[in-house]
Amino acid sequence: MSPLFINFVYVISAAMFIFGLKMLSSPATARRGNLLSALGMFIAIVVTLLAAGIDYKWIFLGMVIGSAIGVVVATRVEMTSMPEMVALFNGFGGISSLLLAWGEYHQNPQMSVFIAIVAFLSAFIGGITFTGSMVAFGKLSGKISQQAVVFKGQHIMNAAILATALLAALVFCLTPGTGFGYTVFILIVLVALGFGVTSTIPIGGADMPVVISLLNSYSGLAACAAGFVISNNILIVAGALVGAAGMILTNIMCKAMNRSLANVLFSGFGTVTAAGAASDGPQGEVRPATAEDVYYILEAADSVAFVPGYGLAVAQAQHVVKELGDLLEKNDTEVSYAIHPVAGRMPGHMNVLLAEANVPYDQLVEMDDINPRMDTVDVCVVIGANDVVNPAALDDESSPIYGMPIIETHRAGTVIVLKRSMNPGFAGIQNALFFAENARMYFGDAKDSIQALVAEFKSV
Ligand code: NDP
Repeated sequence: MSPLFINFVYVISAAMFIFGLKMLSSPATARRGNLLSALGMFIAIVVTLLAAGIDYKWIFLGMVIGSAIGVVVATRVEMTSMPEMVALFNGFGGISSLLLAWGEYHQNPQMSVFIAIVAFLSAFIGGITFTGSMVAFGKLSGKISQQAVVFKGQHIMNAAILATALLAALVFCLTPGTGFGYTVFILIVLVALGFGVTSTIPIGGADMPVVISLLNSYSGLAACAAGFVISNNILIVAGALVGAAGMILTNIMCKAMNRSLANVLFSGFGTVTAAGAASDGPQGEVRPATAEDVYYILEAADSVAFVPGYGLAVAQAQHVVKELGDLLEKNDTEVSYAIHPVAGRMPGHMNVLLAEANVPYDQLVEMDDINPRMDTVDVCVVIGANDVVNPAALDDESSPIYGMPIIETHRAGTVIVLKRSMNPGFAGIQNALFFAENARMYFGDAKDSIQALVAEFKSV
């Protein structure tokens, strides 16, 4: 197979990746986008293997075993466990790049300085990605403590580890072909694996989704470097795309939480400091409502906006919410679902849940689109959301979420808040919305509460 043909196919694959990524930006096209990119990758793999003229036995066996495990795991995974699964994928991507660079170096130790640099980057970033992702997986799945493990001198220790790695990289790049160079390379691998752990344990479990998108970016950068090591163009392109996409997503998540990346990585947020804040927040009288009360409010409304949050995922209430939405529409009520970019615990969490319940895409409204017309919404039904509707983000400069854009439900005619108690959400702070004049608290598990409303509508 001529290199020209191979590169031509690679260009087609790269175009499929790019169009696939573009299609991921809308729920309506996301599935097809995913398929398109996967097809692009499949074509690239086939051409690469055919061109290499190698013995496929082991590769084929690996692909069969890997695909079988992938299919079983992907079909069984709960939607709320998706970030854990992505963490594992990132980790495996990282270790692949590390092993690729190591294998290439082992076979051809007489490397140019450039190849030595990219081999170092591939192994170092790949190693960090692997162990960092394993820690993230452990925290999210509850296999290790979700607490941010913070101790004195931690940043200095991490800085020292990083400095050691950079010094070792310098030595390695100058002497890759010697026995000493090989020993230094092993040291780099060990340092990378250790650094992945020490840089991820100070981050609290609830911040892991941001870390995972960052690790996703790292896995792309490691693959990109590995592409240079083995001179494979499509690996360079795919790695760069993953690296850039992961970085953009990390940036979007940090912005939506109004936090800097440094704050996410180094502050130990969501653990000790947050706990105390709940009791210091706004106090007042809440107005509890029964299913019957809420039914009468909804029945009389011309427009209702559901605002889902993490509690919707916990209660798995998406299907009953859709049922209630349908009943409201039959009652000539205009129904929409207002989506905050960081509602829930992973990017697109609410979109995925509502899509699972077949909520029509045209009823999903982004925060920036609903806020300007919030005054015209009769009733907002907040389902297990807390931080993303907390007005403190707009007017309380001392609040940890000050500056975070929110869905401004407090401006609607009436706000009905579904949650089980007065407990705070992720940020650990009390919410003045619950005490507002126009707010009614409808306590209980979100699924049970909505089921009760559905029953009220059906009983008339
Ligand atoms: P929050 O975590 O602020 O609040 C969730 C609320 O749901 C809680 O107050 C809880 O109250 C309620 N709840 C839990 N279980 C149930 C249930 N079974 N039935 C009814 N209510 C329930 O969620 P939000 O979605 O408002 O905000 C997301 C937060 O997570 C933001 O602070 C965001 O920055 C952060 N974050 C988001 C990420 C993302 O990618 N989306 C990533 C990392 C962090 P109660 O216990 O009283 O029921």
